[in-house]
Amino acid sequence: MKKLVIIAIAAGALFSSCSSKDSGNPLLSEWNTPYGIPPFQDIKMEHYMPAFLEGMKQHNAQIQDIINNPKEADFENTIVAYDNSGALLRKISPVFSSLNSVNSSPEVLALAKELSPLISKHYNEISLNDSLFKRVKFVYDKLETLNLNPEQIRLLTEMYKGFVRSGAELSSDKKEELKEINAQISAQQLAFGQNLLAETANYKLVVDNEADLVGLSDALKKAAKRDENDPEYAGKWVFGLDNPTIIPFLQQSENRELRKEIQNAYLNRCNNDNEYDNKNVIKKLITLRLQRANILGFENFADYQLENRMAKTTDAVYGLLNQIWIPALAAAKNELADMTVIAKADNKEIDKLEAYDWRFYFEKAMASKFDLSDNQLRPYFKLENVREGIFYVANQLYGITFTQLNNVPVPHPEAVAFECKDADGSLLGVLFMDMFARPGAKNGGAWCGGFRSQVYENGERVAPLVTIVGNFTRPAGDQPALLSTDEVETCFHEFGHALASLLKDVHYYGVGGMTRDFVELPSQIMEHWAFEPEVLKVYAKHYETDEVIPQQLVDKLEKASKYGQGFATTEYLAASFLDMDYHILKSIPEDIDVLKFEEDALSKLGLISQIPPRYRSTYFSHSFGGGYTAGYYSYIWAEVLDSDAYQAFVETGDIFNKEVASKFRKEVLARAGQDEAMTLYVNFRGQEPGIDALLKNRGLK
Ligand SMILES: [Zn+2]
Repeated sequence: MKKLVIIAIAAGALFSSCSSKDSGNPLLSEWNTPYGIPPFQDIKMEHYMPAFLEGMKQHNAQIQDIINNPKEADFENTIVAYDNSGALLRKISPVFSSLNSVNSSPEVLALAKELSPLISKHYNEISLNDSLFKRVKFVYDKLETLNLNPEQIRLLTEMYKGFVRSGAELSSDKKEELKEINAQISAQQLAFGQNLLAETANYKLVVDNEADLVGLSDALKKAAKRDENDPEYAGKWVFGLDNPTIIPFLQQSENRELRKEIQNAYLNRCNNDNEYDNKNVIKKLITLRLQRANILGFENFADYQLENRMAKTTDAVYGLLNQIWIPALAAAKNELADMTVIAKADNKEIDKLEAYDWRFYFEKAMASKFDLSDNQLRPYFKLENVREGIFYVANQLYGITFTQLNNVPVPHPEAVAFECKDADGSLLGVLFMDMFARPGAKNGGAWCGGFRSQVYENGERVAPLVTIVGNFTRPAGDQPALLSTDEVETCFHEFGHALASLLKDVHYYGVGGMTRDFVELPSQIMEHWAFEPEVLKVYAKHYETDEVIPQQLVDKLEKASKYGQGFATTEYLAASFLDMDYHILKSIPEDIDVLKFEEDALSKLGLISQIPPRYRSTYFSHSFGGGYTAGYYSYIWAEVLDSDAYQAFVETGDIFNKEVASKFRKEVLARAGQDEAMTLYVNFRGQEPGIDALLKNRGLK
């Protein structure tokens, strides 16, 4: 396999000088599949490089056509033409990034490493192309005289600002410098993620004495047990650092030493001074990002990032984080006090609770306070039932339906496809769900992606292809996948992102995206329906008896849901502060010590030692892998919005109020990036949001 890839890359390198299109390459052919789904099963590793090279070549030719157009630049021949350019790359990139994130292998990682600088250079060259920018600016300067509709004005304005933010107005020297910095940033971000994937996959907690497994559920033990044919670990139990393993392990294991060992391994990922260490990567990244911000006229990288977000300023971000931090930390300290009492009664030797005790005694506190445990609930949350519940909520709100599709290509054999139709029966799009953890091959966490965006082409609506990916507990033996309440919530969350993609109704690619701190509104609002009694009644059915979750358990769940928010809010906020703190630096000392910086940032907050930040620096992908840089705060920022927005339903006395739902769809989901986020929000709600609903929801008020 490895050999084949090397040949493919070499062949790919030759391809740019050879113009023939490989008709045998499915990435370069028309996709005559149902719904135009990528023909995943036909695509081989060797197809990617030539397709990307061809995609970049075509894109460059399209840019040249725009520049060389003898006619004066106008909205159609420049703005729309640029918005549409790069169709082949738009078609094939998501296929590769899906492979890279859900079914990776050393070969895929090697290709990603090869492709990443090429692609980053390609887009860099375009965004810093003088002749192209001149034409865009020419149209932008005439904006007032053009007869454009609001969506077109938005497209033009955002496109112009995008060029400026990329450095289009810089001198040519500075442009060259910026290109080099950008290339290094993407290489370092990629390295960060690849190190993390490797460190997570490499760790194994091997247990050979069954007595050490005391407390663990049968499902967890079964999943960890290696069979007799395993060459290395026959008959032993092997636990990894993926969430579906480590979280229940920490909740259940009575063996304090083993909890300590696995938790420490988790907290020190990419901090082991080996080839996968990320401390140096972080140093390089914060330095490069600051350089980038400075060249573009900003004092620090956070200012640059926030300029076109909803929050706008670092003050606004810190203001919100600080406001929630105080009640959150107080609640966490109360939880710690509770758990310490329980721990001391349970184990005389425990003097002080440690981080690796938290989840274990939290489970015990839940059991003693509310007579409730994760294991009591899981049987009611079979994955397929949860999915039905989600579809039910979407149907109640928007009248849309989901029907499973068989015999269509899927991104991974474990993925399931659904056709989504609007209330009038018209096709909205296709949704894939690929929910189980595949340590080493699939990135951690959960996310929503896609293979094609909604837009209009020649007046026809393009139906989006959307995918939800999770790392959930897979079926073990004859037991189906039974989700934890966290996993149920995650399912609703990612589905909310999917809904935003399916219900979007924009005419240009350039206005199809929401800003980082607004994009979590559609996802997080969905979480509010997950545990509403009238929703649970529909989907929370025991996997063996089909019995609906007893009301008494629902009541307990409702009461218990606020408990633990001190911990959850604190660990999240700590990571948000950390992400901001790195990126507000106006200078970076040559000898900056990442671990010391982290320690200082956290102790300044008064964070208690029992709560590590949700992500420590060396595995903080959101911040250092890119995507959420100076943006991890976005979840709580958007939670202000979603808590307030959900009140719009609650206030009517009907959580499925169709009028409110239709307004939310029309003013927020359909419009996506067509206007400033706050404008969209106020159009829906009639006023800006306050933080009261959030504090109340989290039980912090
Ligand atoms: Zn999200």
